[in-house]
Amino acid sequence: MSCKKISILGVTGSVGQSAANVIISAHENFDVQVVTAGSNVERLAEDAIRLKAKKAAIADETKYEDLKTLLTGTEIEAYAGKNSIEEIAAEPCDLVLAAIVGFAGLRPILSALKNGINVAIANKEPLVAAGALVMETARKSGAKILPVDSEHNAIFQCFEESNRKSIETIILTASGGPFLDWDIKNIKSATINQAITHPNWSMGRKISVDSATMMNKALEVIEAHYLFEVPPEKIDIVIHPQSVIHSMVSYCDGSILAQMGASDMRTPVAYALGWPERIKTPGKTLDIKTLSKLTFQKPDFDKFPALRFAYEALDRGGVSQIALNAANEQAVDLFLKERISFGRITEAIEKALLWTESEASDKDIKTVEDIEEFNNNVRSFVTKDVL
Ligand code: NDP
Ligand code: MG
Repeated sequence: MSCKKISILGVTGSVGQSAANVIISAHENFDVQVVTAGSNVERLAEDAIRLKAKKAAIADETKYEDLKTLLTGTEIEAYAGKNSIEEIAAEPCDLVLAAIVGFAGLRPILSALKNGINVAIANKEPLVAAGALVMETARKSGAKILPVDSEHNAIFQCFEESNRKSIETIILTASGGPFLDWDIKNIKSATINQAITHPNWSMGRKISVDSATMMNKALEVIEAHYLFEVPPEKIDIVIHPQSVIHSMVSYCDGSILAQMGASDMRTPVAYALGWPERIKTPGKTLDIKTLSKLTFQKPDFDKFPALRFAYEALDRGGVSQIALNAANEQAVDLFLKERISFGRITEAIEKALLWTESEASDKDIKTVEDIEEFNNNVRSFVTKDVL
């Protein structure tokens, strides 16, 4: 593989660290340009140095002097502030890995795409809140979007573009999260520790809570709709507690193609970073001979109403999708700050979706500024409503 120039947005996070690990073990294939973080300045400086990056940017402006001090004696340039991340995402390179968490990643993604830079996307929230805009921006510049989320990466590997018409469904697998077998009453009062302890994956706190409400799968349904241009009725969810099959594509001839692997983000990250070639990873591999069974079951839309919200939001249009994502981000934030119970997360989202119906319509919200403003309005609504 020829050497790829790569930038990593959100290098200090769970996906960012998987990427750093893949890159370090295949350093001859990558030339790291830019690394960014939110506020963890020590980790950012450390990563910038070990990855031999040219530039490092931190969203938290107050950490600028710290970053400069930590990078003293190196040639790595330091930047700080939200705008610097947006600007630096457009720095010429072959691939940007988008691994910021949440809606905050939207502007940097648009900035890279506008400049024709291919984006490997783990950061699903911008695709949920602004999927049409993100895809349109890529189409206009010709930039390619490579899915990193394990399900979408699996679908990408099984999706025969030349046989698009023969695809019947794409089937997203879901582990079911930590509360798959809990009863509803206990789920409602689950603690933070119970919610963030995922049975199969080690991930950041926000996505771990999303997995517990199954909002993660809801976001992934919308993510798949935009990434693969497939209508909602062709997107299915199946519970597969072992997380061995990462997703499937079902064709009209009865074939179902599946991608399997260990529950280790280094595999989808390596696939996206190496694409169209495959590269080795230091990650776990699956020993197929030791697998005793793979099980599947239907998801329970009553126990996990978040799943229903995804299809409702797709049916209602763009504003409902912004609302779904914003309400979830705000409610999860409040839950992680111990301000609301676990059960209130999905209640808050349902209320925000209802409120949105009378509050906004797709024709009023088109630009990134409109989307940001409505995102903020929904977040304020949730706070006022639940506290
Ligand atoms: P983490 O919380 O572990 O990491 C988030 C990263 O984003 C960190 O580098 C963080 O910096 C940075 N960040 C946070 N807020 C801001 C901000 N306002 N501006 C700029 N940077 C910011 O998240 P994950 O790695 O778990 O998830 C990242 C994304 O990937 C999410 O969208 C998630 O849904 C998706 N994803 C994650 C998977 C996983 O296995 N973790 C699997 C599939 C998808 P700092 O460290 O300084 O706070
Ligand atoms: Mg996923």
